[in-house]
Amino acid sequence: MSGTPLRLYNSLTRSIEEFRPIHPGEARVYSCGPTVYNYQHIGNMRAYIFADTLGRTLRWKGYDLRHVINITDVGHLTSDADAGEDKMEKAAAAQAKSIWEVAAHYTEAFKRDVARLNITPPMLWSVATDHIPEMIDFAQKIEKSCYQLESGLYFDVSTVPNYGSLARAGTDEGESRIDPVEGKRHPQDFAIWRTSAPDEHRQMEWDSPWGRGAPGWHLECSVMSLKHLGHPFDIHTGGIDHREIHHPNEIAQNQAHCACPNPGANIWMHNNFLVDRGGKMSKSAGGFLTLQTLIDAGVHPLAYRLMCLQAHYRSELEFTWDNLSAALTRLKRLVQGIEKLAARFDAEPRGSLDVVEVREVEEAMSDDLNTARALVLLESVVAGKGHAGDRFTAVRKIDRVLGLRLATLHRTELRVRPADAVIDEATIEAQLAERKEARAAKDFARSDAIRDELTAAGVEVMDGDPLGWDWKLAL
Ligand code: AMP
Ligand code: ZN
Repeated sequence: MSGTPLRLYNSLTRSIEEFRPIHPGEARVYSCGPTVYNYQHIGNMRAYIFADTLGRTLRWKGYDLRHVINITDVGHLTSDADAGEDKMEKAAAAQAKSIWEVAAHYTEAFKRDVARLNITPPMLWSVATDHIPEMIDFAQKIEKSCYQLESGLYFDVSTVPNYGSLARAGTDEGESRIDPVEGKRHPQDFAIWRTSAPDEHRQMEWDSPWGRGAPGWHLECSVMSLKHLGHPFDIHTGGIDHREIHHPNEIAQNQAHCACPNPGANIWMHNNFLVDRGGKMSKSAGGFLTLQTLIDAGVHPLAYRLMCLQAHYRSELEFTWDNLSAALTRLKRLVQGIEKLAARFDAEPRGSLDVVEVREVEEAMSDDLNTARALVLLESVVAGKGHAGDRFTAVRKIDRVLGLRLATLHRTELRVRPADAVIDEATIEAQLAERKEARAAKDFARSDAIRDELTAAGVEVMDGDPLGWDWKLAL
């Protein structure tokens, strides 16, 4: 493919490696998706912004992207290991709804957030419960690596080479989270199939050679990646918590399935956590922030995307409202600068010069997705001197990889506008126009009166605002 070779950090080898596609010209990527028992919090959404940034970079560089994200609607217990209740069953009971209703509701909410963040939908949203026969088939093929207990079929991790080499021993996400299950041969052994207890009634259960029950959570990703991308495929992504249990277990299953040491994917990539003052943002801890919470506070979702892009995906990112508000201001400046460029584009559309920053953005993104550097380069194009037409074209090109909708985002969309604001934009604009006329006619009493009316309605008039925003709703 064109230009600088793409170099990515592989958690498996713990080093930066050049991306070499298995199928020439193609990039096959699988991303662990949401467990749809609750809304995704903004930390979860960081994982999909990261996967989208990777996908956009691959496409930018000319690869034909085949991207699959799974929807987990069965099997994920309240801990990543084998103890605890089923997340879906528990949520359905608490909400007095069927599991299918719960799954449909949160899947839809998730996809809405994906669209709001301008995340490119994958080639396939792969739903776990659509793959039960394939899961049973896969489990039968790896039965030699498994043993049966009353509670289900378990994978014996000693049957594969170097089990867990992906994980970082000693992190608090690691072994301490493995709960004991009576009869397991090794603490890390995990459920392939969970057989329902005789007195247990689950909403989701299927017949299998190991009794009526449900598949283990780790099984689904091995099965769906094999089915839709083939093994081995190029890149597997997920949040950094998956590096400790879920992905080592997928690798073990893949190795047992091919009866070879191949882990199933060449490169394993993990985004670091979004944290807040209380630590890692997590759904089970409750009290988390959703994208809707940010929108209700009047912040545009793309300001959150930009906030994520300011950090490297492998670094922890702290969420504070101040950081988010700074990202919103940065986005406003970009949009304002680009609006000016776009206005000049019509007058001077045909440039001939290459904008050097476009090549530099490619270098930055090829260097393990250095989005922070790409943003700085983008700003230098916007603020730069050269030909407006060339620069606007360059902005559009760079935005294909950053995904901030910069060519179409309008400044009015970026106004801070809390959900409970009652006053409508047309009224505000009309009053401001009248105030402008009053000021032009030196009728300062009238202009001050209008300003007071607006203030009373919660509108902050920003005369001389360097961003040229004129007004915002006071938070
Ligand atoms: P889940 O719905 O819990 O299975 O998580 C969906 C995705 O979000 C997975 O890739 C997780 O690893 C990732 N994730 C969970 N919590 C966070 C967080 N605080 N920051 C970034 N990614 C996260
Ligand atoms: Zn997964």
